[in-house]
Amino acid sequence: MRTRSSVVTDGVVVRGLKVWCSFAQQADWLLVLTALAEGRDDRGHRPLVVVAVPTAARGVTITPLRMLNGVPGFCEVAFDDVRLPLDHVLGRPGRGWQVITTVLRAERMALMAPARFEYRLAQLGQMLDDLRIEPGHRARAELATLDVDVAVHRAFTRVLLGVVADGGDPGPLASVSKLLWSRLDQRVAETGLAALGDAAESADLEPFLPRVPPAWQEWPVEYWQARAASIYGGADPVQREVLARSAIGH
Ligand SMILES: Cc1cc2nc3c(=O)[nH]c(=O)nc-3n(C[C@H](O)[C@H](O)[C@H](O)COP(=O)(O)OP(=O)(O)OC[C@H]3O[C@@H](n4cnc5c(N)ncnc54)[C@H](O)[C@@H]3O)c2cc1C
Repeated sequence: MRTRSSVVTDGVVVRGLKVWCSFAQQADWLLVLTALAEGRDDRGHRPLVVVAVPTAARGVTITPLRMLNGVPGFCEVAFDDVRLPLDHVLGRPGRGWQVITTVLRAERMALMAPARFEYRLAQLGQMLDDLRIEPGHRARAELATLDVDVAVHRAFTRVLLGVVADGGDPGPLASVSKLLWSRLDQRVAETGLAALGDAAESADLEPFLPRVPPAWQEWPVEYWQARAASIYGGADPVQREVLARSAIGH
């Protein structure tokens, strides 16, 4: 981690460069994990700190990057001596790891709301009707299985949100949620693309923002986006390791 923060008497100064900031061009705030420029902890590591940075702050430059599917889905963000009041530091300076792992657990279980999948499956059904496409036996079977799996995702999300609402921490269960929705996202995209067949094949993969494309043209774009679902939010093999470690106790 090369981005650094210096805590000075009247504030905090952030400098460095971050890539992979999803949709930063549309954000008002960024949560930035940085290392403290000064000091080392007992193990010789630089202590971490999380700073809430308004995208409008002086010294913040956001450059959207276009992904292979044509969408500017993440950005490179430069922080050139961005000076902010001390109350922009989340938690105590040096406790950044605890802050960010809590934030990431919340992200892992909330990034893909069940409603997203319900909407996409309903949209797919409508499109197949509009295009007069009769899905084959396999596609129908997979659509039915997806309906069940989305219901499981909804029930599991309720359980996790219940834990959080009671002031608890879902711990490694957030990793179960991540594994559930990342694969669900890919299966919905794969099934939709296969069912749409030629209609989706003929889609225009050129950058579609801000132009609103016909709904079925979104599916190839979503298909490629879904490939990344098993990477962002913490790669799936890493989530499996979190679970394995919690199951065997170390
Ligand atoms: C589309 C997209 C949007 C993103 N948006 C953001 C964002 O907004 N903010 C942000 O901070 N980051 C963002 N990221 C970055 C993302 O969080 C990381 O890419 C992700 O957490 C994986 O980390 P990594 O790239 O360091 O890969 P690593 O975790 O190093 O993984 C590299 C490879 O090694 C494998 N691997 C690693 N550890 C293990 C293990 N213990 N056992 C088995 N295999 C292992 C992984 O599966 C993978 O194949 C985004 C990434 C993508 C693709």
